[in-house]
Amino acid sequence: MSKPNIAPPPLSNDCFALPAGVSWTPVDDALALLQDRLTGVTGSETTPVSDSEGRILAEDIQALRSNPPQPNSAVDGYGFSGAAPEGPQVMPLQDGRAAAGMPFEGRVASGHALRVLTGAALPEGVDTVVLEEDVTVKDGHIAFHGPLRKGANARRAGEDVNEGDTVLDAGRRLTPADLALLSAIGIAEVPVRRKLRVAVLSTGDELIEAGDIAGPGQIFDANRPMLLSMIGKMGFEAVDLGRVPDVRAILKDRLDLAAGQSDVILTSGGASAGDEDHVSALLKQAGAMQEWRIALKPGRPLALGMWKETPVFGLPGNPVAALVCTLIFARPALGLLAGEGWSTPQGFDLPAAFEKHKKPGRREYLRGRVRGGRVEVFASEGSGRISGLSWAEGLVEIEDGARHIQPGDMVRFIPYGSFGL
Ligand code: AMP
Ligand code: MG
Repeated sequence: MSKPNIAPPPLSNDCFALPAGVSWTPVDDALALLQDRLTGVTGSETTPVSDSEGRILAEDIQALRSNPPQPNSAVDGYGFSGAAPEGPQVMPLQDGRAAAGMPFEGRVASGHALRVLTGAALPEGVDTVVLEEDVTVKDGHIAFHGPLRKGANARRAGEDVNEGDTVLDAGRRLTPADLALLSAIGIAEVPVRRKLRVAVLSTGDELIEAGDIAGPGQIFDANRPMLLSMIGKMGFEAVDLGRVPDVRAILKDRLDLAAGQSDVILTSGGASAGDEDHVSALLKQAGAMQEWRIALKPGRPLALGMWKETPVFGLPGNPVAALVCTLIFARPALGLLAGEGWSTPQGFDLPAAFEKHKKPGRREYLRGRVRGGRVEVFASEGSGRISGLSWAEGLVEIEDGARHIQPGDMVRFIPYGSFGL
């Protein structure tokens, strides 16, 4: 039988170039849109400070008490009043001592010194402390070399925080150090936002659960465990919505379920415009779908929409693209929905340990890590290379324009930790 006279589609000169006639939104424009349009959706509750790490403050916090609350000694030594002039000093030692939590009751006479320990409230008549290592004690006197300025080795009341000062702003995600600060100023409970519930759903006929017996063409769902744990690490409440095949009715029911249980839905897979891309199709049907053609590698496309008043982030199915889109777009968006301010991940400019030619027109994120002060990138840029995600410790961000990076050139490295991972 003779073959029909059909030709394959013409190969484009550069099959990875951006499609002609389609406008691609730059990453920064897409981020600005999200920042502009999203606001907090969670209410607030009160929680003990001891349980508040990672929670988002719902109100500004004012100090109930100054830190330190009273002047105190920064060292173990001997306290007295005023500056000591240049040269050898001898002072009579007054009876008693001041220790942390055991204040000296009474006044230290002018020209006398008192034994004081670190953290002790300075008694009346003491504003300066000489270090015990610098002192000789004999016959009820101390001797040391001046000069010593007035106030040396002493902490002023309120030198850190004054009562009534606003110490932390609404929207702050509390760190372990914040818990120390809150406790130091007398705060036992804080108003925080209810945790944002983020549902995670995988879509695709090919997906099965790790541990299942794989049939032909089947692959294990890798995105869901990754996304669920990312959500948890970012301080949100992850809601596991499981997997659905590429069947529109099933997906629709699952989105309904997700909308009832969560504040925002992350799906992966099915977000393009193909036959089996039911996430984008359903969102389009619901009339609340924006296909975001973002000038980004890896990552296109991203389907953003609303399902029953719940925002949906339709992430690409490729695990690398799903991770990058989650870090770059979903994470700051979730932060806003959760009542946190907009967050820009902190990157660091470091010399490259690699060479790369990059074309203009889109931003690129490579999987990278730092060794010996230089940024290495994973050998393959393929967006299905899950081992590269695991190898990496962060993303290398290469700006939208063209670049020829040579070893030693500075590149921007953003550690996973800067995204809250
Ligand atoms: P899609 O975005 O649905 O066209 O999927 C793009 C690619 O990502 C395909 O090769 C899928 O098999 C793959 N993929 C989709 N979802 C997952 C997942 N949950 N885990 C691993 N790979 C996936
Ligand atoms: Mg799919």
